[in-house]
Amino acid sequence: MTNTSSSGVEHGELRAADLAAVAEQLDREPTVLFTVSARCTGGHPLVIRNAPLDADNAPFPTVYWLTCPDAVKDVSRLEADGWIARLNERADEDETFRGAIAAAHEEAAEDRARDLPEARAWGGVGGTRRGIKCLHAHYANRLAGGASSNRGPTTWRSRPSSPAT
Ligand SMILES: [Zn+2]
Repeated sequence: MTNTSSSGVEHGELRAADLAAVAEQLDREPTVLFTVSARCTGGHPLVIRNAPLDADNAPFPTVYWLTCPDAVKDVSRLEADGWIARLNERADEDETFRGAIAAAHEEAAEDRARDLPEARAWGGVGGTRRGIKCLHAHYANRLAGGASSNRGPTTWRSRPSSPAT
């Protein structure tokens, strides 16, 4: 994939340039507080981590969101090539693979529950419990390290935690 090698970021990181960068990447103002979980080599956000509730206190089940347009485009191409159906077929036949997907869902639910315990019930990656619904959500979850990085709850801020770089 092009331009998507992620660089290490601190948990809960939000630089001054990130709010505008993500608004431009999404082509709208984000409706949920977020921090940056992975960056492209150029420093722009690659994966953001969303707060479990949006500005209206409505559930926002997708924890990790792929925002870099290049990465989004690459993954969209895989989806258009039929990889969601192919991977779900493989999960039907391959118990080990099915177990790995189930583990990813479980980790994602656990990760979200650190911020909001009742949000564990919202399901796993992308807010689903079984199989693969969205490759973007799985790729973002993978790039962010899922729950494996043993993080604590996030302090959500509407302002950057570190100066622009
Ligand atoms: Zn990028």
